[in-house]
Amino acid sequence: MSPTPTNSVPNFINGNWIEDTTSQIQSPVHNPSTGEVIARVPHSGAKQIDQAVEAARTAYPHWAGTPAPKRAESFHRYRRILAEHADEIARLITLENGKTLEESRGDLRRGIEVVEFACGIAHLLKGENLPQVANGIDGLTMREPLGVCAGITPFNFPAMVPMWMFPLAIACGNTFILKPSEKTPLTANKLAELFQEAGLPDGVMNVVHGAREAVDAICLHPGISSVSFVGSSAVAKHVYTLACSTGKRCQAAGGAKNVLLVMPDANPDSTLRAILGSAYGCSGQRCMAGSVLMPVGQKNADDWRERLTTALREMKVGDSNAGTFDMGPLIDESSRERCQSFVNDARPAGVEVLHADDDKPERGYFVLPTLLDGVKPEMNLFQQEIFGPVLSLVRTDALADAIGLMNRLGYGNGATIFTASGAASRQFVHGIQCGMVGINIGVPAPMPLFPFSGWNQSFYGDLHVQGTEGVAFYTRQKVVLSRWDDSYVRTQGW
Ligand code: NAD
Repeated sequence: MSPTPTNSVPNFINGNWIEDTTSQIQSPVHNPSTGEVIARVPHSGAKQIDQAVEAARTAYPHWAGTPAPKRAESFHRYRRILAEHADEIARLITLENGKTLEESRGDLRRGIEVVEFACGIAHLLKGENLPQVANGIDGLTMREPLGVCAGITPFNFPAMVPMWMFPLAIACGNTFILKPSEKTPLTANKLAELFQEAGLPDGVMNVVHGAREAVDAICLHPGISSVSFVGSSAVAKHVYTLACSTGKRCQAAGGAKNVLLVMPDANPDSTLRAILGSAYGCSGQRCMAGSVLMPVGQKNADDWRERLTTALREMKVGDSNAGTFDMGPLIDESSRERCQSFVNDARPAGVEVLHADDDKPERGYFVLPTLLDGVKPEMNLFQQEIFGPVLSLVRTDALADAIGLMNRLGYGNGATIFTASGAASRQFVHGIQCGMVGINIGVPAPMPLFPFSGWNQSFYGDLHVQGTEGVAFYTRQKVVLSRWDDSYVRTQGW
């Protein structure tokens, strides 16, 4: 069913699509490229979360008891179905999020990689054992699911981020409730619909739409065992605090300020492509977007300023539902205004604002891809997450100074060095205080085999999403020590 402005986006509970007619708020879902309303989303609350928990709890014993290789079969089917619908899903992402079609395909592809990882769940769940851990005693560990798990997700990766969570949680034997961003609810429903088509029993996967009320209800519900959150740092901290206060496991990924450090010996062509992709891809709305550029050396900085301003003049900004463009809009008017205000405040602070002539569309939430030269570490432009296509150029004279400046940032998601020098890379890798480090890679976002490893204000919790940390988060270990006395066999005469 294609969305229309009057469509209320239904919740998905116990295998049924249920319209929430009781919600006081039905907020508009926009096409960010035009500003048009394409659907309405209910702000469901505690009652709908309660219904979803009930469905997920009922489905849990059977699903948890299903052998892991059998559970994996659903993921093999899901992977095939997602591939068959890839184009349709990518178009839906572009419609409600605004990113280019190529970026939407990438968004889904990274999600499918997690499904592929989940296909190997039987191997991932294997425990450890040590026969004869003590005299006559054998020891082993086994991993068991937690129960009902919940996920709360942001708008910027409508497919990938939910899929960081539910495939692995469900593969581990849990049942799941997803609360997607109210700004991009349509992709979430499509993902759930196709999962059901893959043969998932009713109640194993549920989707409840909403905002703060639904989030708080999830954090406080006694029937939910774990909360996975991805979004801004302030909300990540709120969710982590609330969920932990009721004894839940919580992993809460927050915002970021990622640095691209360029040494004078970096390859100019591949580094330029990587910087453009990192800073302006997805309109800068990636938690791994490079938003601070630190060329080491004044001449190096002048060269990069020149290369980037030339490249920005050639970037085409527009509606990817209607044509091929390099960059789309921001998600909504308030994000556009916030981003624009950072740019407007830059000039009076003595920062040079560099971008192409204003040829962006008149409708929609577009901001021109922008380079700011002369940003200083004490400025908000350096310290705060802008979450838009704005790259701040910070000049430094030495590698050690640059590393020192980066380590003053409160966040800790990603940082990259561009260089041909192994020694410079090594100094960078060992000196930098963040969890995901790139060497000549614009967006060092790990594949699902590795954890998505934010630090500091970019992550609250212990175990990150993805990889074996993800499996550990969605399971708890049982340690079994057994003693079987030989004398029993003898007394039986066996
Ligand atoms: P957001 O924090 O506004 O919203 C995220 C989720 O929290 C949504 O589902 C929303 O409904 C809910 N929410 C919003 N305000 C709330 C409140 N006051 N109380 C309870 N729940 C609330 O984030 P966003 O704008 O959707 O996404 C952008 C942010 O997400 C950026 O900061 C970005 O860096 C971050 N992000 C981080 C990662 C990561 O892995 N670290 C990945 C993607 C996005």
